[in-house]
Amino acid sequence: MKPLHIETPLIESRPLSAHAGRGVWLKMEAAQPSGSFKLRGIGRACQDHARRGATRFVSSSGGNAGIAVAYAGRRLGIPVTVVVPETTSDHAVALLRQEEADVVVHGPSWQEANAHAQSLMGGHDAFLHPFDDELLWDGHAGMIDEVARTGWRPDAVVVSVGGGGLMSGVIQGLRRNGWPGVPVIAVETHGAESLAQSVAAGHRIELPRITSIATSLGARQVCARAFDLAMDHPVVSVVVTDGEAVQACLRFLHDHRVLVEPACGASLALAYGGHAALQPFEKILAIVCGGATTTIETLQAFSG
Ligand SMILES: *Cc1c(COP(=O)(O)O)cnc(C)c1O
Repeated sequence: MKPLHIETPLIESRPLSAHAGRGVWLKMEAAQPSGSFKLRGIGRACQDHARRGATRFVSSSGGNAGIAVAYAGRRLGIPVTVVVPETTSDHAVALLRQEEADVVVHGPSWQEANAHAQSLMGGHDAFLHPFDDELLWDGHAGMIDEVARTGWRPDAVVVSVGGGGLMSGVIQGLRRNGWPGVPVIAVETHGAESLAQSVAAGHRIELPRITSIATSLGARQVCARAFDLAMDHPVVSVVVTDGEAVQACLRFLHDHRVLVEPACGASLALAYGGHAALQPFEKILAIVCGGATTTIETLQAFSG
């Protein structure tokens, strides 16, 4: 079956390379039809569920995961129900409805929305988790397959980390392309640093709450796979501020004419800030994970 995602451009960034003082290449996942890399893994999982007879897809994500499920369902002709909390922006709900999802607004926070989504599950429904699923990691790994096929090899890969699905997929991709020693620089924002705190503690911690504006990084706990990989693969954990992430989004919009979420700006902030974590490397691959839920107005409001 033909995949639902597209092969994305790999481009050398002159502006980011100049800021970082080394070569920075961009894998442009913001160009996916759903606006983020999530479609790689979620599209892969939805096709698998469809093949096994699923008659409905259910999600509890009001963000890029839910949008990817809605997109996949519309393409596959399978109905989608997305349950989101009352805190979800009108813009995000409109994006979900634009993909013809049935949106149910329920409860004050994600916990209640997710519990309601679980209670709706019928016998032939498939629930799509936003990050903790082997099918997702396998789908995300495809972005590294595409890089490897170009013949260009990075010295390190920069990824943003929420629940750790993207990082798990990227490391899987590095390994299956014969690059098990290529380090991963895992970036989070303060207030969403569930991986950084877990690495510091030596075990998987759960944050009491999320305080970062980078909502797509707002998983209180990373998946077990991501933590195990952080122990087993060369992973450097870095935390940036919300302000650095937002400034990186605005500079990236100016430099590359592409609007991304602060969740993605967190990764770009390393190159813009000439961060020390990049110092040992000549050729950096930054995953431009994208994100569809931010507008220029929200970015400007955040930047004050
Ligand atoms: C989901 C998402 C992330 C984080 O991915 P995880 O797999 O949860 O670590 C980062 N950026 C964007 C734009 C996302 O949609």
